[in-house]
Amino acid sequence: MSEIQTYKFYAGNRWHEPSSEKYFESEDPSIGKVWAKIPDCNEKDINLAVSSAKRAYYDGPYGKMHPAERGRTLTRIGDIIAKNAERIGQIETKDNGKLPKNITPSLTSWQTESFYYYAGMCDKYEGRLIPSEVPNMHNYLKWEPFGVVALILPWNSPIGTLIWKLAPAIAAGNTVVIKPSERASCSTLELMKILEEADLPEGLINVVTGFGPTTGAPLIEHQDVRMISFTGGTKGGSAASLSASKNVKPIIMELGGKSPQIIFKDADLTLSVNGVVSGIFPVSGHSCISGSRILVHKDIKDKFTHNLLEVVKKAKVGHPNDVATQIGPIANKEQYDFILSKIEAAEKRGLKLLIDGRKEQKTEGYYIGPTIFDNVPNEDDLAQNEVFGPVASIQSWDNEDEVIKIANDTIYGLAAGIWTKDTNKAIRLADKIEAGTVYINNYFNASTQSPVGGFKQSGYGRENGWEGMQSYMQTKSTWLATNPSQPNPF
Ligand code: NAD
Repeated sequence: MSEIQTYKFYAGNRWHEPSSEKYFESEDPSIGKVWAKIPDCNEKDINLAVSSAKRAYYDGPYGKMHPAERGRTLTRIGDIIAKNAERIGQIETKDNGKLPKNITPSLTSWQTESFYYYAGMCDKYEGRLIPSEVPNMHNYLKWEPFGVVALILPWNSPIGTLIWKLAPAIAAGNTVVIKPSERASCSTLELMKILEEADLPEGLINVVTGFGPTTGAPLIEHQDVRMISFTGGTKGGSAASLSASKNVKPIIMELGGKSPQIIFKDADLTLSVNGVVSGIFPVSGHSCISGSRILVHKDIKDKFTHNLLEVVKKAKVGHPNDVATQIGPIANKEQYDFILSKIEAAEKRGLKLLIDGRKEQKTEGYYIGPTIFDNVPNEDDLAQNEVFGPVASIQSWDNEDEVIKIANDTIYGLAAGIWTKDTNKAIRLADKIEAGTVYINNYFNASTQSPVGGFKQSGYGRENGWEGMQSYMQTKSTWLATNPSQPNPF
């Protein structure tokens, strides 16, 4: 009996087969076997999804809803996701190998919190009266939605990245068309099945599936899509922004990173080692903020490296559904091959391998354990470019000015970790680091209330917090004459 699940795409609160009649496959990376077929959506399918979202926005019901009622819709969505966290988590594990303990708990806590946070904001996002210098004028500023917004997702955390976009986008009053990654579409489609229970307004949330150039690009370029929120790699983001620029559309971009972990010689050794390990390996390096560049002061480098290896070599790499597993598989075959090619190339360049994660390769599935290279020059590919896998590099430094220079010397600027007992020094350094998020004596924390986003080629625009809502709105300035008089100009 075939256990392969065939999905449809979702538009106008209905399920549809792709008009191309074509599907692509999703492999379970823990065993390397196909388990699902996903619709390969073309322009006709995109038109259907966008026109559903457009109707919902202009004709209602969602576009005509009072903000407080929008808030109640968001609350319902949050409740249903929390109630079904385990089911969504199981699908995501099958789709990209992520450990259930890294998905399910967050869907009952801080991630669903996004819906409650932005539900409360729906009717509190006030405009303002502007004390303009023009006499007898009442000038007021309102925040308005864009209309139809496209949400483009990556494969590493489809539901997590979706929630960070969906909650503020619909709280702001937009309707949406989601395009998940071709490498992990199933949890988003499964989420739509679950949300049918929420009795959502028709056309509010639509999902098309397919590849970047053939589904993502035409969605972004569609005349009726007014704004785009993109999370993915810097290369994909650059291509998406070119598409958006054709019709001069706003786009926010949450892109890749190559984040430094800066360890001072006065750092708490156990805390910093645990923090650095936790900041990359438990999620196989499949996080945009993975702290893959370990910059450790030369005086403690040997001790730090020794302790780091002691912790890392005990990590249990295995099947994501085995409760003893601490590191799951690489999310898909393409990424597995890519990571292996990066390790091989680094070896060929003569870099010293301290621990080789290839020893964790198995006969089925895509497994690579923690891999660490020593004394990596900052100009090397491994220190400069994102691997998005469990591969870290160690570099040493001598003084504060030098480490700031090294830390900032990449095209990225997403996050950075600073490990020291000297708070003054930590704050001084944090001010000089070019990154959207800086962690001092901790790493990987995030919350709905705190905006995240990149500097430099890690993207622009912010998600979460007050700024996250603003990303999905535009201002309108209205001038009302309180004593109308207009002389004939001629
Ligand atoms: P990707 O850029 O390959 O794909 C991301 C999405 O963009 C996919 O849905 C893809 O189909 C689509 N896409 C690709 N090319 C496109 C095009 N020309 N037009 C329109 N859409 C296009 O990225 P990925 O490999 O799926 O994800 C991994 C990357 O995402 C990593 O670089 C990671 O750092 C980044 N990421 C960033 C954040 C963040 O918040 N900054 C969060 C998670 C992941």
